[in-house]
Amino acid sequence: MTTLLVTGGAGFIGSNFVRLALTDPNTRVINLDLLTYAGNRESVQDLDPDRHVFVQGDIGDAALVGRLLAEHRPDAIVHFAAESHVDRSIDDPSAFIRTNVLGTQVLLDRALDYWRSGAADGFRFVHVSTDEVYGTLGPDDAPFDEQHRYAPNSPYAASKAAADHLARAWHRTYGLPVMITNCSNNYGPYQFPEKLIPLMLINALEGERLPVYGDGQQRRDWLFVEDHCRAIARVLDAGQAGRVYNIGGNAEMCNLDVVHLLCDLLDERVTGERPRRELIEFVQDRPGHDRRYAINASRIRDELGWEPSVDFAGGLAATVDWYLEQRDWWQRIRDGRYRSERLGVAHFE
Ligand code: NAD
Repeated sequence: MTTLLVTGGAGFIGSNFVRLALTDPNTRVINLDLLTYAGNRESVQDLDPDRHVFVQGDIGDAALVGRLLAEHRPDAIVHFAAESHVDRSIDDPSAFIRTNVLGTQVLLDRALDYWRSGAADGFRFVHVSTDEVYGTLGPDDAPFDEQHRYAPNSPYAASKAAADHLARAWHRTYGLPVMITNCSNNYGPYQFPEKLIPLMLINALEGERLPVYGDGQQRRDWLFVEDHCRAIARVLDAGQAGRVYNIGGNAEMCNLDVVHLLCDLLDERVTGERPRRELIEFVQDRPGHDRRYAINASRIRDELGWEPSVDFAGGLAATVDWYLEQRDWWQRIRDGRYRSERLGVAHFE
């Protein structure tokens, strides 16, 4: 049996990763998640309790992390837990520093003690990060490769950049077998409806306005979440300790085109009162909004044989279908019922 300690496994990418990991009957997951507003117990409640142990707690709680490592003796840590929404980081960066920077430091420290104790042969630590640490690209610049200089522009990106530097340092200084992944924008099932695609999708479905920042020409590289999870699994299995892997979908699109595509997909599937593109409203741009991100993912392709398997049109259609089929999942978020799951665990609130 392989045991993984997954942090943030009730969030968007973490819950998709836990599902993927558990498709191997010889894998067991300890899922450590604080259940902040972005964490949703309901995203993982159907998983086999014999192989999925859910622990509500903070990665910054050194005693808890130490106890989980000693008790469950994981073969690896896959670290997703983070504050992840750029707009919230602009309003209040403090939680981003606490979780993304200090929380990562606690996790690395406890992992180091555990690794040094020799309790798990071949122990590995995957630190999951973002392309936003590299800052913004000009229209003709080459996509980010692993040597690109760090130039984070938002408090979120700065906190993730700091965490990446810690992860790197814990490898270089102490030898901890850490791998870092920097991935482009993800989309797919279980994404919290504050992020571009699920927000626009649900608003368009409900006939509500579609607020597009600035001129909508900000370009992002989009990757279907299940492809990202497969990439992380490859890095976990075969990545080289101390190495960074950039992950991307070869699917650069501007935000406005994404919203147009979503509107058209919904118009095909569900009749609305009027074409959904008419709901688009341009709003004041986000301060410091990066214009363009693009990823050069040739290292992970050449060294680990990973490539995205889903193209953007197919992934977006699958995502729309999922949100149409799983209305209960997002309606319970919208009206706050998903939070009732955690009411019984008052000491963490
Ligand atoms: P998310 O916001 O959906 O999920 C984050 C999860 O972490 C939530 O379940 C939350 O409850 C949990 N969490 C927050 N603080 C915690 C703490 N102190 N202790 C324990 N758990 C805590 O985020 P996501 O979109 O799934 O992103 C996961 C990771 O992937 C993040 O590290 C993010 O930076 C990175 N990433 C995201 C994207 C993307 O497009 N979403 C792209 C590249 C990298």
